[in-house]
Amino acid sequence: MAEITAPRGVRDVLPDESWKWAYVLGQFRGLAESFGFSEVHLPIFEHTELFSRGIGDTTDVVEKEMYTFEDQAGRSLTLRPEATASMVRSYLEHHMASGPQPVKLWCAGPMFRYEKPQKGRYRQFWQLDVEVLGSVNPLVDVEIIGLSLELYRRLGMTNLEVVVNSVGCPVCRPAYREALQSYLRPHLGELCGSCRSRFDRNPLRILDCKKETCKAITEGAPDVMDSLCDECSGHFAAVRRGLDLLGARTHIDKRLVRGLDYYTKTAYEVLSGDLGAQNAVCGGGRYDNLAESIGGPHVPGVGFASGIERIVLTMEQQGCSFGRAPSLDAFVVCVDEAIRDEAVKLLYALRREGLGADMDYQGRSVKTQFKTASQAAFACILGGDEAARGVVAVKEMATGNQEELLFDDAASSIRSRLSR
Ligand code: AMP
Repeated sequence: MAEITAPRGVRDVLPDESWKWAYVLGQFRGLAESFGFSEVHLPIFEHTELFSRGIGDTTDVVEKEMYTFEDQAGRSLTLRPEATASMVRSYLEHHMASGPQPVKLWCAGPMFRYEKPQKGRYRQFWQLDVEVLGSVNPLVDVEIIGLSLELYRRLGMTNLEVVVNSVGCPVCRPAYREALQSYLRPHLGELCGSCRSRFDRNPLRILDCKKETCKAITEGAPDVMDSLCDECSGHFAAVRRGLDLLGARTHIDKRLVRGLDYYTKTAYEVLSGDLGAQNAVCGGGRYDNLAESIGGPHVPGVGFASGIERIVLTMEQQGCSFGRAPSLDAFVVCVDEAIRDEAVKLLYALRREGLGADMDYQGRSVKTQFKTASQAAFACILGGDEAARGVVAVKEMATGNQEELLFDDAASSIRSRLSR
């Protein structure tokens, strides 16, 4: 029978990498909480309509990338391709608008998109996500961007570029859309197939195309900044002022429109110079009309999502620290199988003291057990002689110092040595 492997585009995060994820997640959690955000656990699947209405029918995500299935009762469900729509649904469903505003929430977890897998692009990937709901204040946009930049600073990431733009609002976007279409119309035949099909349905996305021919054509496209209404240009100026206050170096990229329809006003991305083609570590912006598009009242919102895989890839590339690799405090070396019971008792005494402790279960040679013990802070060596005398030989691996401790005191004594 053929061996079953993981489906294309999904990957196992094995122990040599998972501790790095835990570090990034821990830093993110601590930072988000310190900025006043609270965690929510959102469902992995939702009604398909949430995404088709929220993200937009004409986006690549909804058109081509969703994992949609019917459940036993014939409902159309979709594995979440992103978290924002779910967060807004949750805010509405739990009447969070009735409490103090804004509501600041964070979540982290896997997202699913049927994309062409490549380095840094997977079909299941993890996002760190923060959202502020219920405020139109541009300083909230600044808070979101500032949080992501502080996260990367704490993680030691460098060589990042922060690009910002405004994609306008329903008042000014139609005029820009028209100006863009007028500019592109004479070049329609030269655009790639996807861009041609975007021309009528979603022309702003043409600005985002990575194909060289399309990029060359859109180089001379009208600048969205020239079409912004007073409110949008005032908002953008206030966001830029706020970013200056933080000392954040950003630049405007008029092509930045982002792949999801719900963005209004601020759009931003953080790009890593060390990632190759899939260089976005973070994307976000304001989405003041998302709540309405999923059937709720008007609720302004702003947030970002950042991919853990790409953060870890960048950090590895840049030699950033992931904190201390996990290691054991103590390893019990059982020299004589006849006193295995004593060794097990010692192991659990160590664990009850809150220490990281382990032992061999495969009857390995003492030499091999010592090899494993060399990765722990202490080796607790137990042979027939020690067991008979009610002691254990404890060797500090870093110094090689060895001494005998009373069996009953060994665990607490190791703990106090470690906390010194
Ligand atoms: P988006 O929701 O498309 O704005 O993406 C936000 C962030 O999620 C990106 O900047 C990436 O860091 C990450 N991301 C998006 N799609 C993928 C993917 N297919 N594989 C890995 N990371 C992704």
